Amino acid sequence: MSATPSFTPVLAPGAPERMAVIDLNAVRHNVRHLKTEIGERTLIAVVKADAYGHGAIEVGRAALEAGADMLGVAHIREGLSLRRAGIDAPLLAWMHTLNSDFSRALTGNIELGVSGWDLDAVAETAQKVGTRAVVHIKVDTGLGRNGCTLADLPALLHRAREYEEQNLVTVRGVFTHLAVADEPARTETLTQLEAFNAAVNHVRQAGLNPELFHIANTPGTLMHGQEAIPEELLGNAVRVGLGVYGLSPISSHDPEDFELQPVMTFQTFINSVKEVPAGQGVSYGLNYRTETPTTLALVPVGYADGVPRVASNAPVRIYPAGAQAQTYQVVGRIAMDQMVIDLGKPGLSDPEFGYLGAPVVLFGNGENPSVTEWAEAAGTINYEIVTRISSRVDRVFIDESTSTSES
Ligand SMILES: *Cc1c(COP(=O)(O)O)cnc(C)c1O
Repeated sequence: MSATPSFTPVLAPGAPERMAVIDLNAVRHNVRHLKTEIGERTLIAVVKADAYGHGAIEVGRAALEAGADMLGVAHIREGLSLRRAGIDAPLLAWMHTLNSDFSRALTGNIELGVSGWDLDAVAETAQKVGTRAVVHIKVDTGLGRNGCTLADLPALLHRAREYEEQNLVTVRGVFTHLAVADEPARTETLTQLEAFNAAVNHVRQAGLNPELFHIANTPGTLMHGQEAIPEELLGNAVRVGLGVYGLSPISSHDPEDFELQPVMTFQTFINSVKEVPAGQGVSYGLNYRTETPTTLALVPVGYADGVPRVASNAPVRIYPAGAQAQTYQVVGRIAMDQMVIDLGKPGLSDPEFGYLGAPVVLFGNGENPSVTEWAEAAGTINYEIVTRISSRVDRVFIDESTSTSES
């Protein structure tokens, strides 16, 4: 069991005003740990949506260094941007539209998840480009989103086999996505696994011989071997996103319960500290009023930075130079660019306490508030909290050498 590293606020003069500090060592730790969890299986690290807001190029590289076998993205464009950055590992993209650029995907050597019409579009493009497309057939085993239904599967497989014979397509994988793996008590996961097994039989009967069978996302991967996900039904590859970022897919469990380390710390600096009387209203709507004379501290981030406006009462931790670090709750409405903390007593604007300029952490590892606490305050899931952090916030990458680099 590895200890969660204690948090050191980034104090360097000239540090970005608002930053999502991305610990690439934690990415590597998480990937190595996930590899031990899955044994011989292939690890597809999912870095869609700019690696859930963490920076797809940097995280993708770190994940590959730590042993991920392949990267997964939703959009072909996301895959192409990884290729432009020089990442030449196997890449899989699975969310296409009629306007997707299959031609660039094929010349960029991006493997494609296909569910129906897209198989034909990809085969047609392969013919034009004069190459062979590598596809993974996506089966809807119960989630009801994209993926081929079991009823439509025989026809799709028949076409896939024809395209293989014409040297236009290689079916490298078959996959599905789980609906309720984050709720281990539910029985639908086992139903999905059994449906997938039936789909795989159809695949073999159609004369196809794919190499990869992937089902599990992060919760499925962390829960495998338990009743809901028997080992023998897990396939020989997994697609893991959230776990790479060190977050727990199950709200009743901390990342540490799964030996994962949170990767993102969202930090800025207090930019105003002032004394106010009792009865002072705070922020739009004046929904909060101070009960006694007190000190207010301003945190210069808001919903334009991706902080959810509905998360009033969410926690932040302040690290003043001349007083104890402490966790507070946001008071009043979160605005576009700012939110307010009531420090709870008067007199704290005195420079000796060092609140002006103090690092303030919305969420991160160690004793900082967690992403999950922010998710609960916002009525959402931890996935959304990190993914929505906007481009106004600098990503600062911490690497093995502990030197930092910005982008
Ligand atoms: C996003 C996504 C994943 C990763 O899910 P996590 O729960 O973050 O591990 C896996 N597969 C598909 C198809 C996805 O869209």
